[in-house]
Amino acid sequence: MTRHEHPTPGCRDAPVLRERGQREVFCGLTGIVWLHRKMPDAFFLVVGSRTCAHLLQSAAGVMIFAEPRFATAILEETDLAGMADAQEELDRVVARLLARRPDIRRLFLVGSCPSEVIKLDLGRAAARLSATHGPALRVLSYSGSGIETTFTQGEDACLAAMVPALPETPVRQLMVAGALPDVVEDQMRGLLDGLGIAPLALLPARRADAACAVGPGTVVALVQPFLGDTRAALERRGARVIDAPFPFGEEGTTLWLAALAREFGVAPERFEAVTAAPRARARRAVAQAAEALRGKTISFLPDSQLELPLARFLTRECGMRAVEIGTPYLHREMLGPELDLLAPGPVLSEGQDVDRQLDRLRAARPDLTVCGLGLANPLEAEGLATKWAIELVFSPVHFYEQAGDLAGLFARPLRRRAVLGLEPAP
Ligand code: SF4
Repeated sequence: MTRHEHPTPGCRDAPVLRERGQREVFCGLTGIVWLHRKMPDAFFLVVGSRTCAHLLQSAAGVMIFAEPRFATAILEETDLAGMADAQEELDRVVARLLARRPDIRRLFLVGSCPSEVIKLDLGRAAARLSATHGPALRVLSYSGSGIETTFTQGEDACLAAMVPALPETPVRQLMVAGALPDVVEDQMRGLLDGLGIAPLALLPARRADAACAVGPGTVVALVQPFLGDTRAALERRGARVIDAPFPFGEEGTTLWLAALAREFGVAPERFEAVTAAPRARARRAVAQAAEALRGKTISFLPDSQLELPLARFLTRECGMRAVEIGTPYLHREMLGPELDLLAPGPVLSEGQDVDRQLDRLRAARPDLTVCGLGLANPLEAEGLATKWAIELVFSPVHFYEQAGDLAGLFARPLRRRAVLGLEPAP
């Protein structure tokens, strides 16, 4: 039996601990950091407060034009004069922005906690601004608010907002949904070209004028496990989503490609010819990087929504043992193929109650803990090695050529501790 067949029942029906309590996560505004790089002709205008501006500027190092003044002005104007003025102020700010930046083709009005608290209707604003400044400019809105969200939901909300505006097509095609770094996207294109899977649409497209349409002939493959709303929006447009493990590691990449190959009738010999060499490279790279990981234990605190696919990769390809896999949301349909591959044993938890999760973590003392930035320093001070979950979203980690780097990201904190003489706690 090959490694890609799974003899155990997996974790699809395993009990899930549901937690509801205090949360320690970044909000969805964080997604702007990677989305603005992905769409060079787009602009993200956060309608928020100085807190929102600081999150983007200091934590993520992104400069948003005039954002702090604008956001603060809205709150002050609204306090003084009511909602009508907030909409007018938004129109003025957008007009000023477009006068300075005529190259903008897509403008996203990004809602925040403050804009939601004052119930500023950004959907209405987007429709009005599209009518005023279109068709060369399309204005869309989505929420990056931190209320009950995680930081990866910003990308989901952004992509889902784009779907209703996509043109209709009856063509049978593959759409890959999820923002990938350009270099990784190019590698993926190479693999799909080699398999003869075409035509290919990408969501998000790099440029507003790139062909990206959807319809009943569209088959969708997701590259990120946090795109639940995007998936639902595409299904509403008649597209069909292929459920498969996500393309992390050699195994995940192979199974993801194999699901597409089956769908598009690619001959097994062709699949083998296209994937054999990069698979072998990925296996070698993972084996080397995983030396520091074998036999080590790992716990995930809920943060990025990448937890289940990463736990699958680390346990099956890198020899780690998962103690607890916490995830903010467990989308059973989307993560079913991942759960099938995961050996029973780890505690599966959904949602966050940070105090209880920390109690379990301190009792288990895993060799490595994947968590948010805010928890990493205190845990390090307690002698626990940590990995920032957010780094996994900012780094190129998908597909074969990145599989070794992905293992390396987890090996690094353990190697660092070994060099410093800080062996993982017993
Ligand atoms: S959207 Fe909410 S959680 Fe995010 S930075 Fe602004 S105020 Fe904070």
